[in-house]
Amino acid sequence: MDYRAAFENAIEGVRSEGRYRVFADLKRHRGQFPRATWTRDDGSQADVVVWCSNDYLGQGQNPVVMEAMKATIDEVGSGSGGTRNISGTTHYHVELEHELADLHQKEAALLFTSGYVSNEASLSTLHKILPGLVIFSDALNHNSMISGIRQHKGEKLIFRHNDLEHLEELLAAADPAVPKLIAFESVYSMDGDVADIPGTVALAKKYGAMTYIDEVHAVGMYGPRGAGVAERDGVMAEIDIIEGTLGKAFGVMGGYIAADAVICDAIRSLADGFIFTTSIPPALAAGAVASIRYLKEHNEIREAHQERAASLKERLIKAGLPVMPSVCHIVPVLVGDAVHCKMISDILLEEHGIYVQPINYPTVPRGTERLRFTPSPAHTDEMMDKLVVALEKLWVHCNIQRVGGVAA
Ligand SMILES: *Cc1c(COP(=O)(O)O)cnc(C)c1O
Repeated sequence: MDYRAAFENAIEGVRSEGRYRVFADLKRHRGQFPRATWTRDDGSQADVVVWCSNDYLGQGQNPVVMEAMKATIDEVGSGSGGTRNISGTTHYHVELEHELADLHQKEAALLFTSGYVSNEASLSTLHKILPGLVIFSDALNHNSMISGIRQHKGEKLIFRHNDLEHLEELLAAADPAVPKLIAFESVYSMDGDVADIPGTVALAKKYGAMTYIDEVHAVGMYGPRGAGVAERDGVMAEIDIIEGTLGKAFGVMGGYIAADAVICDAIRSLADGFIFTTSIPPALAAGAVASIRYLKEHNEIREAHQERAASLKERLIKAGLPVMPSVCHIVPVLVGDAVHCKMISDILLEEHGIYVQPINYPTVPRGTERLRFTPSPAHTDEMMDKLVVALEKLWVHCNIQRVGGVAA
């Protein structure tokens, strides 16, 4: 067996489809977010503006967050030293779970090492608690939910994305006696569309289903205290399990669920992805607490964030660039093929100091390859103008369709 050739072939397959991924080597400048230094393969460097960070609000450099992390390292050292069960539950983990429960107005919260793990571990465990559970899953759910649902030993039914009529059809056709769970997201981060949470909750009530929502792209950013879209829409209490991340708007790392105490306790007791892994470092937990508390009290950051996103959309539309219809802070611009998408991204970085990663298959369907911009409160008018001018040039250069169906 030629092992080496097999690995080379695998890479070649990815490359031939135009979806070989190249990571940008970045060094962020604290205090100057979203600016960073990019290091090329040859070691040379350039200053860039980052336009695709999921540190949506710049909390990763908020002095309040950093001070909490530094103080915790000084106090208790670096790692947690164990799984939650075996010496890895520190005062900081406990405090963070209380903070998260309060954020979502639930009895309890359960911390995981990432949002990915929280989805996978929770969704793959529920069938152990609810034998015969049927999971109804939105077609565009994140890979972490799909991975958990694949491990679910029971029926899985996929409903068309954000299509409540289809969801109701499936719910109505199911045996009324079996336990049911509707798994969906609030903000879908590739298109920037948002679920009808009140509508989903109403269906759950009608058909006796539990609800599980991924608010990863909404926590910190929506609702008066930053608890997410369910809070904004006034239905947080109606959702059974809320899942979120500490790695995006909260600017650190880790994942969690918030729910009734008995739900968290059962998942804590049975989920492999919770049990068999080292807990996050205390400093991360302390940074997360500081970040959550800060964002609870600073709604003006959420307002600034929404204003910046609206302003960028408006500028792109004015320039005739094909902004996809997003109703949130994410600004996707359609390119439509993988090669151009990568090419535009490369030129933006090399010639304009603008970093935006191309979004290609399998993250999005073929033919909908796009650039996905995530303006933060720290992206200035000047940065936006520079971006729009560069995109206009590139759209002409690459002869890509503009709005109205006319190639430039
Ligand atoms: C990023 C993401 C996750 C995973 O969260 P991490 O904390 O990055 O592991 C889960 N769900 C959705 C929708 C995401 O976009």
